[in-house]
Amino acid sequence: MQSRSAAERREELVALYKGVAACERCPLAATRTRVVFGAGNADADLMFVGEAPGQQEDLQGLPFVGRAGKLLDELLAGVGLSRDEVFITNVLKSRPPGNRDPQPDEIEACRPYLDRQIELIEPTVICTLGNFATKLLTRSSRGITGVRGRPQVHEIGGRTLRVYPLYHPAAALRTTRVLEELRADFEGLPGLLAEPPPVPLGAVGPVAPAPAPEPRPQLDLFG
Ligand code: URA
Repeated sequence: MQSRSAAERREELVALYKGVAACERCPLAATRTRVVFGAGNADADLMFVGEAPGQQEDLQGLPFVGRAGKLLDELLAGVGLSRDEVFITNVLKSRPPGNRDPQPDEIEACRPYLDRQIELIEPTVICTLGNFATKLLTRSSRGITGVRGRPQVHEIGGRTLRVYPLYHPAAALRTTRVLEELRADFEGLPGLLAEPPPVPLGAVGPVAPAPAPEPRPQLDLFG
């Protein structure tokens, strides 16, 4: 595939936004106030994927603007990052009524938008926040408690990248232990971002010459 410039990818992201803003693929279109497409740097190395917009996000059309968002800002600042340097989005672009869990049909309807965002932004690391984003992007039923803080290599949106599962900030607001573990996992982010890109899955590395055969021991038949 021919590589596109950052300006071209940004333009395509704006076109995608217009499509998402008018989306009626699932019943959430009827109850949302505003679509929450995502926000931040369209050429970010680091992307965050949360679950779904809550009440404040639905009203403002922006991701993570409530209490969980304030914590996310604080955690980012702790590792020297700001919202302008990353891209933040969600599995669902519309708020589920009463903040109920996203339903499988809603996730399936919204999934192509997330894949396309990843394809256009070209992050090297995606932090999945909580169970829904983690299970979706790692294509696994393993819950966040068992996988948090350990990067995984995946192919998403046609690219090989690292998925770094993290607790959802809303869970960290409820439990001190979760907050401590989330802070500790955030400290791993600068190192992860500095790593060279992962080798595409299934790629065959340079073929090493076959080692010289070991000299076969002489059988002492005539001694
Ligand atoms: N929780 C999420 O998962 N996403 C938001 O945008 C806000 C709260």
